[in-house]
Amino acid sequence: MHAIQVDHVVKRYKNGVQALNGLSLSVKEGEIFSLLGQNGAGKSTLIRILTTYLCPTAGEIEMMGKDIKKDAAVIRSQIACVAQQTSIDTYLSLEENMMFQSRLYKIPKAEARQRMERLISDFGLSQYRKYPVSSYSGGVKRRLDIALNMMVNPKILFLDEPTVGMDIQSRIAMWDMMNKIRDGFGTTIFLTTHYLEEADSLSDNVCIIKDGKEVTQGTPAELRSLLRQHNLQVKFSSSTESKANLGLFQMQFQGKKFFQHGNIIVINTYSAQSDLLEITSFLLKQNIPFVGIEITEPTLEDVFLRLTQNGQEDQE
Ligand code: ADP
Repeated sequence: MHAIQVDHVVKRYKNGVQALNGLSLSVKEGEIFSLLGQNGAGKSTLIRILTTYLCPTAGEIEMMGKDIKKDAAVIRSQIACVAQQTSIDTYLSLEENMMFQSRLYKIPKAEARQRMERLISDFGLSQYRKYPVSSYSGGVKRRLDIALNMMVNPKILFLDEPTVGMDIQSRIAMWDMMNKIRDGFGTTIFLTTHYLEEADSLSDNVCIIKDGKEVTQGTPAELRSLLRQHNLQVKFSSSTESKANLGLFQMQFQGKKFFQHGNIIVINTYSAQSDLLEITSFLLKQNIPFVGIEITEPTLEDVFLRLTQNGQEDQE
């Protein structure tokens, strides 16, 4: 069964803005699913609809086999959402927050205690249980907020930009937590992120949306293979040199796309081997000093930029 099935959903706000434009996607039970899109693509609108805060203007949505229009109350009792603003009470300790949450959801006390102990131990949060949540860093607060939301045993957990602004250690702790939620609790995770490397390494499936419509959906590997191209990277000793050589490259190899990033020039190519030979011999003949040249796989970021900036020409 699919955890979430979105079928041709349209959302038109009262001011006439059409934020979702016939969007379809599906999320499998027990997976980590990432929704990617530029600002204004419609991610928050979709999350607000799936968490039953907003009604779609048209289209069908099923969550855990239930229709979102007919069974919103049942669906609401089976999901949890951690937004960017923490919902955790920062004056209370983690333990107090968890027990308070369990009373709100009418979970029997003994069961709540058992659940709290499991969450604290599985997520390695025992050092945070007693002191007010306000005494911890932003990254820790976010993890405590997620642990709190897990008290109600949701079937689907929505996370809006869970690692935004975090340092690398907090992000690693957060990734570890998400993997534990999927593997240990069987909870489906639906998240939005701006970090494409994160989506690539963490997600089972990814959907890229643009202007309120899906552009593509699949595993990160499937999406990378969509480009059916490689990158050639020529490394120079400084960005001044790479900048200086960019114009030369464009003049010599007309019709190819070059990008300059720091001390590297990147070339998108469908024929990596022959381009490698051609460019290397050009550099050697012209006596242009370079540090190295290599063929690399496209990243999810390449796919994202190609599909959201230039349409879908490369999928043909
Ligand atoms: P994202 O989360 O991907 O940045 P949003 O879902 O917030 O995208 O926004 C999609 C579009 O809908 C944008 O054009 C935005 O300005 C518009 N929008 C979002 N919320 C509202 C609202 N409450 N009323 C009117 N327009 C809105």
